[in-house]
Amino acid sequence: MFASKDFDDHESVLFFHDRNTGLKAIIAVHDTTLGPALGGTRMWAYRNDEEALEDVLRLSRGMTYKSSLAGLNLGGGKSVIIGNARTDKSEALFEAFGRAVDTLGGKYIAAEDVGTSVADLEAARHTTPHIAGISEGKVGDPSPATAWGVFNGLLAAAEFRLKRPDLKGVRVAVQGLGHVGYGLCEYLAEAGAELVVSDIYDKLVNKAVQNLGAVAVAPETITSQDVDIFAPCALGAILNDKTIPDMKATIVAGSANNQLAEPRHGIDLMNRNILYAPDYAINAGGIIIISHEGPGFNRQKAMQEVAGIHQTALRIFERAARDNKPTGEIADTLAWERIEAARARKHENTKIRKITG
Ligand code: NAD
Repeated sequence: MFASKDFDDHESVLFFHDRNTGLKAIIAVHDTTLGPALGGTRMWAYRNDEEALEDVLRLSRGMTYKSSLAGLNLGGGKSVIIGNARTDKSEALFEAFGRAVDTLGGKYIAAEDVGTSVADLEAARHTTPHIAGISEGKVGDPSPATAWGVFNGLLAAAEFRLKRPDLKGVRVAVQGLGHVGYGLCEYLAEAGAELVVSDIYDKLVNKAVQNLGAVAVAPETITSQDVDIFAPCALGAILNDKTIPDMKATIVAGSANNQLAEPRHGIDLMNRNILYAPDYAINAGGIIIISHEGPGFNRQKAMQEVAGIHQTALRIFERAARDNKPTGEIADTLAWERIEAARARKHENTKIRKITG
């Protein structure tokens, strides 16, 4: 495991097996310098254990970067349950998972992800308090906050690249009209942007055409539309050798996770003068709002903090232009600088405590 390309000095990786319920789970805690590791629990029918391990290592590291860049006092972690989310779920399985989470004593906090629902996490809550995103239904679905953050990141990109103070008449192609994509389209339509959309579900496309005046196009043509901005809100690895050469947009800003098929595609975009708003920098609205959960939750205040993604994105664009580096690399550097500074502070405090006895 130490040789795995996705193992990146993770603080701990724990494997759990519960004979009675059949639970097979891995919890990966990547870094807790900034705070407890908050990250979703994914349930997936992985082909083998290696694939599950690879996923949990990659996703937990991603959470460290996302939370750090968002300015949150949270670390990075993630968990996976190996199994079919349609057929293998039971209350007892999630209670067993809760017991696994509880062994970390709050170092890892679980939340919803692909394959898990609020009901599953409520079952896990029977056996551990370390569950986020379900308390008294106050935060609820984080997608509207994610859409608001992506909209703010996209605005920053338009300001920086198109020198536009607003989005009136700016053409945006949105791929995927799900929870985040449709919410983003609503913000864009309200701001006067012209929408070109695609989804594999006609119902969602028709809704955007009827309610928001969007123009529908075939899913396979969305990446090469003659638009100013491409907003991927469906699939990962959409920025690849096949899509980038045909892209006419000069900005990519969307919610999808892991948009770059490989890091080299970030360099490719830069060389073609396409401004890429790093995915995890602008899709952090969901984790920001979840971090506000608890007594005294104030949605307005949380959404204001989400809007701060505008400033974060501008910082990335400016530094990338100054240093002539891909924006993704700059986002990683900024996220890591914050962790290093916190580490140095902790180290200093420990030294002072030792000296003063
Ligand atoms: P969702 O499942 O609600 O929506 C995804 C949409 O994409 C669906 O409507 C689906 O039909 C469509 N789609 C799938 N394949 C497509 C294709 N080839 N062409 C066009 N459309 C296609 O998911 P979501 O919650 O809206 O999330 C969208 C993306 O944003 C995902 O990559 C997710 O990981 C990421 N993300 C979401 C959140 C959140 O708060 N929901 C937070 C961070 C990142």
